[in-house]
Order: sequence, then C-alpha cells, then structure tokens
Amino acid sequence: MSNVMVLAGRVGKDLTESTFELVGKARELADAWGGQVEVARFGTADPATALGVADTVVSIDHPALSDYVPEAYEVALRHVLAERSPRLLLLPNDTMGLDLGSALSVLWDAPQAAYVVGLEADGDTPVATCQILGGKILAEVEITGERGICTVVSGAFPAAAGQGGDGAELVALDPPAALESPRMSLQQLIEPQGGDVDITTADLLVSVGRGIGSKDDLDTVQELADALGAPLSASRPVIDSGWMPKSRQVGKSGLKVKPKAYLSFGISGAPEHLEGMRDAELIIACNTDAAAPIFDVAHYGTTVDLFDLVPAIVEKLEG
Ligand SMILES: Cc1cc2nc3c(=O)[nH]c(=O)nc-3n(C[C@H](O)[C@H](O)[C@H](O)COP(=O)(O)OP(=O)(O)OC[C@H]3O[C@@H](n4cnc5c(N)ncnc54)[C@H](O)[C@@H]3O)c2cc1C
Repeated sequence: MSNVMVLAGRVGKDLTESTFELVGKARELADAWGGQVEVARFGTADPATALGVADTVVSIDHPALSDYVPEAYEVALRHVLAERSPRLLLLPNDTMGLDLGSALSVLWDAPQAAYVVGLEADGDTPVATCQILGGKILAEVEITGERGICTVVSGAFPAAAGQGGDGAELVALDPPAALESPRMSLQQLIEPQGGDVDITTADLLVSVGRGIGSKDDLDTVQELADALGAPLSASRPVIDSGWMPKSRQVGKSGLKVKPKAYLSFGISGAPEHLEGMRDAELIIACNTDAAAPIFDVAHYGTTVDLFDLVPAIVEKLEG
C-alpha cells in the first residue's frame, strides 16, 4: 500500500499545528506514490471536521481515548495500522510521538526514523533527514521494506500545505477489546505555567541567556522586548533559575522556534539551545565572547556588552 497515515494531535478540542504540518507532507508523498492521506483520530465525537487535505479520517471513539494515554493510544493506533496497512506513519516528534513511535516500531515491525527534519520520496522509498547529536549532525536514512515510521520535528514542514481541502471521508472503526481493561489512566492534566504567550508562533523573539546575570536585570531586556512588541524567550539556565516560566524556554528540552528574527543576548549557543532556534530566518547575537558558538549560526553579531547595547537600542526605539 502507498498510503501515508498521520496521527492527529490535539490540544483540548483543537488540532495541533503540527498535525497540519504532517498532513501537508503526507499529501506530497501520497501524491508521489499514487496513494491516499489517512488521518487517525481518536476520542472525539466529531472526527471528520477540519482535517485539511486528508482523504480519509479513520476514527475510534472510546472513553479511554478522550485524553492521551500512551497504552490506550498504542492499542488504538496498532489496530488502525493493522486495518489500513499504510506505507508510512507520520507522528510528531513530541512526547506522544516518541512514545508511540518506538512502541509501534516493535509491535508493528517497522523501522523508525526520529528527529526528522526533511522527508522526500526517492521513487517508492521514503528518505528522511534526521537530526542527531542535538542537531550537530544530519543523517539521511532510507526507509526500505513495506512500512516505516517517522517522528517529525515541529516546524520542519509548513502547516499551510496541510490546511484547506474539501473534507475527508470518515471510516469509524470499532474500539479494540483491549481498551476495556486499561492498566493506565490519566489522573490529571497539568497545564504549563505562563501559557499566556506562545513563543513558537512569534515573528520576532528577544531571547536572553545566563549572561544577563540576575533576575532583576531581566527588566533591561524586557524593556527592549516591549519596545519591539516581541515576547521574551530564554535559554535553559534562565528557566532553571526560576526567573522565567518553562513555556519561554528555547531548545532541545524547551520549544523549537522559527521566527523571522531571533535577537539573542548573553546566550553562548550550546548545541541544545541551537537545536531550538537555528531555523530562525535572521539571527542577531550579542555576546562579549567572540568565540561563542552562537556566532556560528548568527547572521549578524556583536561583542558589545549587552548592558551597554540594550539600553542604547531602547533609547533609539523610543526617541
Ligand atoms: C539534555 C539537555 C537538554 C538541554 N536543553 C536545553 C534547552 O532546551 N535550551 C537551552 O538553552 N539549553 C539546554 N541545555 C543546556 C545547554 O547545554 C547550555 O548549558 C545552555 O544552553 C547554556 O545557556 P546560556 O547560553 O544562557 O549560558 P552560558 O553557556 O553560560 O552562556 C552565557 C553567555 O553569556 C555571555 N555573556 C556574559 N555576560 C555578557 C554580557 N554582559 N553581554 C553579552 N554577553 C554576555 C558569555 O560570554 C556566555 O557566552 C540542555 C542540556 C542538556 C544536557
């Protein structure tokens, strides 16, 4: 079969942006292979709505699937895969996708490519570009055989390519019996702190690192962010110090951002940080150490002290 399947992710009732990123890529591959785009969607009473350019929605509705629980989703997705036999399964490279990808790689007997940032069809064979060592190296892998799984890094493909469409055909499957006796259930969903700003959708980010020195000095960069109308994001040490909420962390264990411009102050550019921001269209870095690795990815840079530079820019912007 040359169909490409995507698992729909959701936040509350809404589909995630990465669902459409995957659906868009699935469309491209399925068209190249003369196949269809199928989306597996679980635990919703209205599964067929707004699935972009997908051809088919394969749904299973069961109370055990109303929130993401690894065991229940794995059982349900395995059932869908057995019924539909796609060539390729695309999952987001997030907690859910990494859970399910590795479990299904074993249970569905399919090779898995993780941290995928590129995916093309070479004839009948999917070829994935994967980040390894925190993005320091890119590996190109061919997924040969009858089936495969890719977990795709958020932002790797445009969401717009998956949106629109004429509506998908609905195929409702009966829930597998194993959902009746779950060994795992969700106790509580803990919302992230400071969910007021989504740094992944900002066009402009002002980002600050350990070079800021103290929580009180954050006001200096906050003033610049306010003057530019941009959210403030940060490297991990700033978050780990409790100076800003986790929702503002850029990097491997934070969020991947892709703004039009990323202004970095007092950030060294460790691989784990670069993994989250190196795809910004324009990177401008301020770091007093000319050898800091952030300058390897920056389009413009300065070694001026941030405490001299930032107030001077604010003065220019406000004057
Ligand atoms: C598994 C794992 C996951 C990780 N995930 C992340 C992640 O998601 N995000 C992340 O950011 N890190 C992450 N890290 C940590 C990462 O390895 C680095 O430790 C971290 O990115 C360093 O943050 P920094 O650049 O702010 O601090 P530092 O490396 O300490 O750099 C501070 C920089 O500020 C400069 N500086 C100092 N004073 C000034 C001044 N007055 N003006 C201008 N420049 C100044 C210094 O020259 C220095 O280069 C992770 C690490 C691991 C092991």
